[in-house]
Amino acid sequence: MLPDLVNPKEKTYLAIAIIASAFVYLILLVSLIGIFYVLIGAFALAVVQGIAIGQLRGNSVRVSAQQFPGVLAMAAEICPRLGIASVPPIYIMQSGGVLNAFATRFFGRNYICIYSEILELAYDQGQEAVAFVLAHELTHVARNHVWWKTVIFPAQFVPFLAAAYSRACEYTCDAYGAYLHSDGAEAGILVLAAGKRLYREMNVDAYLAQAQEPEGFWMWLAEHLSTHPNLPKRMLQVRRLRATRNIQPAAAVRAF
Ligand SMILES: [Zn+2]
Repeated sequence: MLPDLVNPKEKTYLAIAIIASAFVYLILLVSLIGIFYVLIGAFALAVVQGIAIGQLRGNSVRVSAQQFPGVLAMAAEICPRLGIASVPPIYIMQSGGVLNAFATRFFGRNYICIYSEILELAYDQGQEAVAFVLAHELTHVARNHVWWKTVIFPAQFVPFLAAAYSRACEYTCDAYGAYLHSDGAEAGILVLAAGKRLYREMNVDAYLAQAQEPEGFWMWLAEHLSTHPNLPKRMLQVRRLRATRNIQPAAAVRAF
Protein backbone atom coordinates (compact mmCIF):
# COMPACT_ATOMS: atom_id res chain seq x y z
CA MET A 1 0.00 0.00 0.00
CA LEU A 2 1.48 3.31 -1.10
CA PRO A 3 1.47 6.19 1.37
CA ASP A 4 -0.18 9.44 0.31
CA LEU A 5 2.78 11.48 -0.89
CA VAL A 6 0.78 13.79 -3.15
CA ASN A 7 1.93 17.36 -2.66
CA PRO A 8 -1.02 19.20 -1.01
CA LYS A 9 -0.55 22.15 -3.35
CA GLU A 10 -1.18 19.86 -6.34
CA LYS A 11 -4.79 19.33 -5.24
CA THR A 12 -5.30 22.98 -4.25
CA TYR A 13 -3.96 24.45 -7.50
CA LEU A 14 -5.82 21.86 -9.57
CA ALA A 15 -9.09 22.77 -7.85
CA ILE A 16 -8.51 26.50 -8.49
CA ALA A 17 -7.51 25.83 -12.10
CA ILE A 18 -10.61 23.68 -12.71
CA ILE A 19 -12.84 26.47 -11.40
CA ALA A 20 -11.03 29.09 -13.54
CA SER A 21 -11.20 26.82 -16.60
CA ALA A 22 -14.89 26.03 -16.05
CA PHE A 23 -15.52 29.79 -16.02
CA VAL A 24 -13.79 30.14 -19.42
CA TYR A 25 -15.54 27.07 -20.87
CA LEU A 26 -18.89 28.44 -19.71
CA ILE A 27 -18.31 31.82 -21.36
CA LEU A 28 -17.23 30.13 -24.59
CA LEU A 29 -20.21 27.80 -24.58
CA VAL A 30 -22.86 30.47 -24.00
CA SER A 31 -21.51 32.48 -26.90
CA LEU A 32 -22.03 30.38 -30.03
CA ILE A 33 -18.86 31.69 -31.63
CA GLY A 34 -16.97 30.43 -28.52
CA ILE A 35 -17.89 26.81 -29.28
CA PHE A 36 -16.32 27.27 -32.69
CA TYR A 37 -13.06 28.48 -31.08
CA VAL A 38 -13.07 25.55 -28.61
CA LEU A 39 -13.42 23.08 -31.50
CA ILE A 40 -10.69 24.81 -33.53
CA GLY A 41 -8.40 24.85 -30.48
CA ALA A 42 -9.04 21.17 -29.71
CA PHE A 43 -8.35 20.23 -33.33
CA ALA A 44 -5.12 22.26 -33.43
CA LEU A 45 -3.97 20.70 -30.14
CA ALA A 46 -4.71 17.19 -31.44
CA VAL A 47 -2.70 17.86 -34.62
CA VAL A 48 0.30 19.25 -32.69
CA GLN A 49 0.25 16.35 -30.20
CA GLY A 50 -0.23 13.81 -32.99
CA ILE A 51 2.82 15.09 -34.87
CA ALA A 52 4.89 15.05 -31.65
CA ILE A 53 3.87 11.44 -30.95
CA GLY A 54 4.53 10.55 -34.61
CA GLN A 55 8.06 11.95 -34.32
CA LEU A 56 8.60 10.09 -31.05
CA ARG A 57 7.42 6.77 -32.46
CA GLY A 58 9.15 7.30 -35.79
CA ASN A 59 12.64 8.25 -34.61
CA SER A 60 13.09 6.89 -31.09
CA VAL A 61 13.93 3.41 -29.87
CA ARG A 62 10.97 1.48 -28.47
CA VAL A 63 11.78 -0.37 -25.26
CA SER A 64 10.76 -4.04 -25.34
CA ALA A 65 11.78 -7.46 -24.07
CA GLN A 66 14.42 -7.48 -26.80
CA GLN A 67 15.37 -3.79 -26.70
CA PHE A 68 16.76 -2.40 -23.44
CA PRO A 69 15.01 -5.13 -21.40
CA GLY A 70 16.45 -3.65 -18.19
CA VAL A 71 14.28 -0.55 -18.64
CA LEU A 72 11.20 -2.69 -19.28
CA ALA A 73 11.96 -4.74 -16.16
CA MET A 74 12.22 -1.55 -14.09
CA ALA A 75 8.91 -0.24 -15.44
CA ALA A 76 7.22 -3.61 -14.90
CA GLU A 77 8.30 -3.48 -11.26
CA ILE A 78 7.20 0.15 -10.73
CA CYS A 79 3.84 0.20 -12.60
CA PRO A 80 1.84 -2.18 -10.35
CA ARG A 81 3.11 -0.33 -7.27
CA LEU A 82 1.67 2.91 -8.69
CA GLY A 83 -1.58 1.24 -9.71
CA ILE A 84 -0.81 1.41 -13.44
CA ALA A 85 -2.44 -1.60 -15.09
CA SER A 86 -0.01 -2.07 -17.96
CA VAL A 87 3.40 -0.63 -18.79
CA PRO A 88 2.93 2.30 -21.22
CA PRO A 89 5.08 2.43 -24.36
CA ILE A 90 8.57 3.66 -23.44
CA TYR A 91 10.89 5.26 -25.98
CA ILE A 92 14.57 6.17 -25.81
CA MET A 93 15.38 9.39 -27.66
CA GLN A 94 18.83 10.55 -28.71
CA SER A 95 19.21 13.90 -27.02
CA GLY A 96 22.46 15.54 -28.10
CA GLY A 97 23.59 15.82 -24.48
CA VAL A 98 20.35 17.03 -22.95
CA LEU A 99 19.35 15.22 -19.77
CA ASN A 100 15.60 14.83 -19.57
CA ALA A 101 12.64 12.50 -19.58
CA PHE A 102 8.94 13.18 -19.99
CA ALA A 103 5.51 11.61 -19.98
CA THR A 104 3.00 12.48 -22.64
CA ARG A 105 -0.46 11.38 -23.77
CA PHE A 106 -2.35 11.17 -27.04
CA PHE A 107 -5.97 10.09 -27.46
CA GLY A 108 -6.04 8.37 -24.07
CA ARG A 109 -2.74 6.55 -24.49
CA ASN A 110 0.26 7.39 -22.31
CA TYR A 111 3.86 7.42 -23.51
CA ILE A 112 7.15 7.74 -21.66
CA CYS A 113 10.27 9.15 -23.30
CA ILE A 114 13.71 8.87 -21.72
CA TYR A 115 16.57 10.80 -23.28
CA SER A 116 19.52 8.62 -24.15
CA GLU A 117 21.92 10.52 -21.89
CA ILE A 118 19.80 9.59 -18.87
CA LEU A 119 19.75 5.93 -19.86
CA GLU A 120 23.52 5.89 -20.31
CA LEU A 121 23.71 6.33 -16.54
CA ALA A 122 22.33 2.84 -16.12
CA TYR A 123 25.39 1.49 -17.85
CA ASP A 124 27.68 3.46 -15.57
CA GLN A 125 26.60 2.26 -12.12
CA GLY A 126 23.67 4.64 -12.08
CA GLN A 127 20.80 2.13 -12.34
CA GLU A 128 19.06 3.47 -9.24
CA ALA A 129 19.11 7.03 -10.61
CA VAL A 130 17.48 5.79 -13.82
CA ALA A 131 14.90 3.85 -11.77
CA PHE A 132 14.09 7.06 -9.86
CA VAL A 133 13.64 8.99 -13.12
CA LEU A 134 11.38 6.23 -14.47
CA ALA A 135 9.33 6.14 -11.26
CA HIS A 136 9.00 9.95 -11.44
CA GLU A 137 7.68 9.79 -15.02
CA LEU A 138 5.35 6.89 -14.28
CA THR A 139 3.90 8.89 -11.39
CA HIS A 140 2.91 11.54 -13.96
CA VAL A 141 0.99 8.73 -15.71
CA ALA A 142 -0.54 7.36 -12.50
CA ARG A 143 -1.72 10.84 -11.45
CA ASN A 144 -3.04 11.73 -14.94
CA HIS A 145 -1.01 14.94 -14.91
CA VAL A 146 -0.86 15.31 -18.70
CA TRP A 147 -4.63 14.90 -18.98
CA TRP A 148 -5.32 17.47 -16.28
CA LYS A 149 -2.88 19.96 -17.80
CA THR A 150 -4.87 19.74 -21.03
CA VAL A 151 -8.22 20.15 -19.24
CA ILE A 152 -7.08 23.23 -17.34
CA PHE A 153 -5.43 24.89 -20.33
CA PRO A 154 -7.94 27.81 -20.25
CA ALA A 155 -6.70 28.64 -16.73
CA GLN A 156 -3.57 30.08 -18.38
CA PHE A 157 -5.20 33.49 -18.04
CA VAL A 158 -4.59 33.35 -14.28
CA PRO A 159 -0.95 34.45 -13.84
CA PHE A 160 1.37 31.81 -12.35
CA LEU A 161 -1.42 29.24 -11.75
CA ALA A 162 -0.64 26.61 -14.40
CA ALA A 163 3.08 26.75 -13.60
CA ALA A 164 2.33 26.44 -9.86
CA TYR A 165 0.21 23.33 -10.51
CA SER A 166 2.98 21.88 -12.67
CA ARG A 167 5.63 22.45 -9.99
CA ALA A 168 3.41 20.80 -7.37
CA CYS A 169 3.04 17.81 -9.73
CA GLU A 170 6.83 17.61 -9.99
CA TYR A 171 7.18 17.51 -6.20
CA THR A 172 4.60 14.71 -6.09
CA CYS A 173 6.47 12.71 -8.73
CA ASP A 174 9.79 13.21 -6.95
CA ALA A 175 8.18 12.03 -3.70
CA TYR A 176 6.89 8.79 -5.20
CA GLY A 177 10.12 8.33 -7.14
CA ALA A 178 12.05 8.69 -3.90
CA TYR A 179 9.66 6.33 -2.12
CA LEU A 180 9.97 3.64 -4.77
CA HIS A 181 13.67 4.08 -5.54
CA SER A 182 15.11 6.06 -2.69
CA ASP A 183 18.70 5.11 -3.43
CA GLY A 184 18.51 6.83 -6.79
CA ALA A 185 16.58 9.95 -5.81
CA GLU A 186 19.45 12.22 -4.90
CA ALA A 187 21.60 11.02 -7.77
CA GLY A 188 18.68 11.45 -10.17
CA ILE A 189 18.36 15.11 -9.24
CA LEU A 190 22.10 15.77 -9.06
CA VAL A 191 22.46 14.42 -12.59
CA LEU A 192 19.98 17.04 -13.83
CA ALA A 193 22.05 19.72 -12.08
CA ALA A 194 25.58 18.78 -13.09
CA GLY A 195 25.42 16.11 -15.78
CA LYS A 196 26.06 12.40 -15.79
CA ARG A 197 29.77 12.59 -14.99
CA LEU A 198 30.16 15.57 -12.66
CA TYR A 199 27.20 14.67 -10.45
CA ARG A 200 29.38 12.19 -8.59
CA GLU A 201 31.77 15.03 -7.64
CA MET A 202 29.11 17.31 -6.18
CA ASN A 203 29.02 18.32 -2.53
CA VAL A 204 25.41 17.53 -1.66
CA ASP A 205 25.37 19.52 1.58
CA ALA A 206 26.62 22.65 -0.19
CA TYR A 207 23.98 22.11 -2.87
CA LEU A 208 21.25 21.76 -0.25
CA ALA A 209 22.44 24.98 1.39
CA GLN A 210 21.76 26.67 -1.95
CA ALA A 211 18.05 25.93 -1.44
CA GLN A 212 18.13 27.94 1.81
CA GLU A 213 19.71 31.04 0.30
CA PRO A 214 17.56 34.19 0.10
CA GLU A 215 15.88 34.14 -3.30
CA GLY A 216 15.67 37.76 -4.32
CA PHE A 217 13.04 38.96 -6.76
CA TRP A 218 14.48 37.62 -10.05
CA MET A 219 15.14 34.14 -8.71
CA TRP A 220 11.63 34.11 -7.24
CA LEU A 221 10.11 35.27 -10.54
CA ALA A 222 12.11 32.79 -12.63
CA GLU A 223 10.94 29.88 -10.49
CA HIS A 224 7.32 31.01 -10.38
CA LEU A 225 7.20 31.17 -14.17
CA SER A 226 8.78 27.72 -14.44
CA THR A 227 7.02 24.36 -14.76
CA HIS A 228 9.67 22.75 -12.55
CA PRO A 229 10.84 23.72 -9.06
CA ASN A 230 14.45 24.79 -8.66
CA LEU A 231 16.64 21.71 -8.42
CA PRO A 232 18.14 22.40 -4.95
CA LYS A 233 14.57 22.55 -3.58
CA ARG A 234 13.74 19.23 -5.22
CA MET A 235 16.86 17.79 -3.64
CA LEU A 236 15.87 19.18 -0.24
CA GLN A 237 12.45 17.54 -0.49
CA VAL A 238 13.76 14.07 -1.29
CA ARG A 239 16.32 14.28 1.50
CA ARG A 240 13.64 15.37 3.99
CA LEU A 241 11.40 12.55 2.80
CA ARG A 242 14.12 10.03 3.36
CA ALA A 243 14.69 11.42 6.84
CA THR A 244 11.09 11.71 7.99
CA ARG A 245 9.32 8.88 6.19
CA ASN A 246 9.96 5.24 6.75
CA ILE A 247 11.13 4.75 3.22
CA GLN A 248 11.88 1.11 2.58
CA PRO A 249 14.93 0.15 0.63
CA ALA A 250 14.02 -0.04 -3.02
CA ALA A 251 13.69 -3.34 -4.79
CA ALA A 252 17.00 -4.30 -6.29
CA VAL A 253 17.41 -2.89 -9.77
CA ARG A 254 18.01 -5.63 -12.26
CA ALA A 255 21.41 -5.67 -13.87
CA PHE A 256 21.71 -4.11 -17.28
ZN1 LIG B 1 8.23 15.46 -14.08
